[in-house]
Amino acid sequence: MKIIKNSFKGIKVAAEILKGNGTVAFPTETVYGLGANAFSNAAVTKVYKIKRRPIFNPLIIHISSYDIAKQYGVFNDLAETLARNYWPGPLTIIVKKKKSKVVEAATAKLETIALRCPSNIIASRLIQELEKPIAAPSANKSGKLTCTSPGDVFAKLKNSIDALLNGGDAELGLESTVVDCSVEKPCILRLGNITLEEISN
Ligand code: AMP
Ligand code: MG
Repeated sequence: MKIIKNSFKGIKVAAEILKGNGTVAFPTETVYGLGANAFSNAAVTKVYKIKRRPIFNPLIIHISSYDIAKQYGVFNDLAETLARNYWPGPLTIIVKKKKSKVVEAATAKLETIALRCPSNIIASRLIQELEKPIAAPSANKSGKLTCTSPGDVFAKLKNSIDALLNGGDAELGLESTVVDCSVEKPCILRLGNITLEEISN
């Protein structure tokens, strides 16, 4: 595993690895993500294998703006309000999936897609440098504790991923809140940094 320093050049190097279907652990404001080019079936498949994640458990697709998110999902009024209020930030929004180049494996062949626009500047720059969405679950083996620091990632994944983009400790250390806006009665599927009270208001 290559360890990449956080710099303009480092982010370019990490993006090149993603372009070549490699896997890169990168910081977000929540926890470290294990990233793959969301348009590449080969790269996304690697992520499932590395994590030993069941193929029916879809990945979060990371984008760099709400405008770009709209290319991949259909935002109803609630989804739009949440995106405008909480993005960039630790909220994952599930919406109906649009036909796009995001590979079916990344969304576990569902008709919905989980989208998040991270506020961490390194994550955001990496997505922009790749010029494609990054499919990224938490950087850990399925069922194990999530990694919130580069040291955690090194200890847990050094033998199985291509690179680690070192961005220091994740600011929040808690996963994103996941809201399903694709159903008639929207619901929270996972509570994270943003609370139920905040979203309900
Ligand atoms: P992780 O990527 O490990 O932080 O976990 C992402 C969470 O989002 C998991 O609990 C997934 O099951 C959930 N998720 C991702 N995409 C969808 C989707 N389309 N529908 C429902 N849940 C999803
Ligand atoms: Mg996880």
